[in-house]
Amino acid sequence: RKERVTRALISVSDKTGIVDFARALDARGVALVSTGGTHKALVEAGLPVQEVSDLTGFPEMMDGRVKTLHPKVHGGLLGRRSDPEHQAAMLAHGIAEIDLLVVNLYPFEATLAGGADYDTCVENIDIGGPAMIRAAAKNHESVAVVVDPGDYETILAELAEHEGATTLTLRKRLAQKAYARTAAYDAAISNWLADALEVEAPTFRAVGGTLAQAMRYGENPHQKAAFYRTGEARPGVATARQVQGKTLSYNNINDTDAAYECVGEFDPAASAAVVIVKHANPCGVATGATLADAYERALACDPVSAFGGIVATNRTLDAEAAAKIVEVFTEVIIAPDATEEAIALVAAKKNLRLLLAGGLPDPRAKGLSVRTVAGGLLVQDRDNAVVSDMTLSVVTKRQPTAREMEDLAFAFRVAKHVKSNAIVYARDGATVGVGAGQMSRVDSSRIAAWKAGEAAKALGLAESLAKGSVVASDAFFPFADGLLAAAEAGATAVIQPGGSMRDAEVIAAADEAGLAMVFTGHRHFRH
Ligand code: 5GP
Repeated sequence: RKERVTRALISVSDKTGIVDFARALDARGVALVSTGGTHKALVEAGLPVQEVSDLTGFPEMMDGRVKTLHPKVHGGLLGRRSDPEHQAAMLAHGIAEIDLLVVNLYPFEATLAGGADYDTCVENIDIGGPAMIRAAAKNHESVAVVVDPGDYETILAELAEHEGATTLTLRKRLAQKAYARTAAYDAAISNWLADALEVEAPTFRAVGGTLAQAMRYGENPHQKAAFYRTGEARPGVATARQVQGKTLSYNNINDTDAAYECVGEFDPAASAAVVIVKHANPCGVATGATLADAYERALACDPVSAFGGIVATNRTLDAEAAAKIVEVFTEVIIAPDATEEAIALVAAKKNLRLLLAGGLPDPRAKGLSVRTVAGGLLVQDRDNAVVSDMTLSVVTKRQPTAREMEDLAFAFRVAKHVKSNAIVYARDGATVGVGAGQMSRVDSSRIAAWKAGEAAKALGLAESLAKGSVVASDAFFPFADGLLAAAEAGATAVIQPGGSMRDAEVIAAADEAGLAMVFTGHRHFRH
């Protein structure tokens, strides 16, 4: 059904495009009603607007907490046009119909992201706005509700096409969008309170976000997809500034997140670090004196997989590193920042996406991880355990050397970011073989060892890169076989959580093979 728009209530915090929109409505003969700030903006633009306090007979009060919460507003939005009783009530109480509601809310999410204090956040919780949005959306049979300045054009096109009326199809779509907005808004408020109260993850948390990007497709071309921002201020793919390149795809965003979360493990003050990711798994991670050095070593781990990969750096991307990265086909580079020279070098590759995150994610920061299962959501704390905070115990006769110890910690840090079962061989602060995502730990061990051999061949070396390396396992070795596979490949030291029923057997096997082994007491499953 078409509904002619005769009266619009406009109450917006983000005043982008509002004057032009209101002017176009006015030109169509739509009567305008507005709250204080919006009213002022429209009057200054020379538009005839009624103030909502005139409509209600009440002044806006209590710092704006109460502006539109009045039957003249909510009756005008909620009254059923086709219901004689509703019409009689409207007539009896002098309630005028409102056919179009234009509201965007107090910027709670932006206020929070800006680091505002508690009281400022509280004052930025919009009450009347969501109430009106929900009322108008409920009455979508007759009322159109606009919560996004990006939809003003759509409304005007609709009014032009249908002689000043909106169609039910559009009103329903707008109502759906409106409830998504109020749900995300309340989710942001609830999660902020949960953070302030340090609520544990399993306690109820609202999960929601704001649509950031509709995508052509998802993981596969036959899947539709979209990207939502949750408002979390964590530096990363959701908050980074894209300097250049094609639009990020679903897989790009997922992989870039994996890469940046991993590189965030490496303190930029201690060393440069580079992570190369393919299919959400690191295929090369290395530290170095410079990013260029680290990149070269990360690439050497698995140059075949790095083709079409994502590169993350823990320091400002410099020209030397950028020059090396652009030599290899790369989908995305993400860095805290980049020099002008580096940006210019990347610009030579038009499609290559460059993201500057403004900082590194803190691996110790609390946060949520959420995934869907059929009929439910699984919510847990982010894995924010860091190996340097763990109590490491040497369980073998042989103590690891200082170099082995450093590499063991490095390998375990990387293993945290490799899908289980994860086996990571490392040497001199660089991965030399990564075994990811296998159903059997022994298979992951074998794959990692095989890859270390392949990497050596690519470098023209006779000996596998696993020779003299150390190995990390994300979870305990249930049997000695996985450990022995690593020793056979040439690893001299092992790091793993420990805690298997057969620990004694595994330790005896390590002693026999002359390995040094460290238990962390922490598991890093990632599925
Ligand atoms: P203005 O700038 O026009 O003075 O205020 C616009 C903002 O006020 C909008 O974001 C709108 O959602 C919000 N708003 C409208 N009515 C009420 C109300 O009754 N209480 C509160 N807290 N906010 C309101």
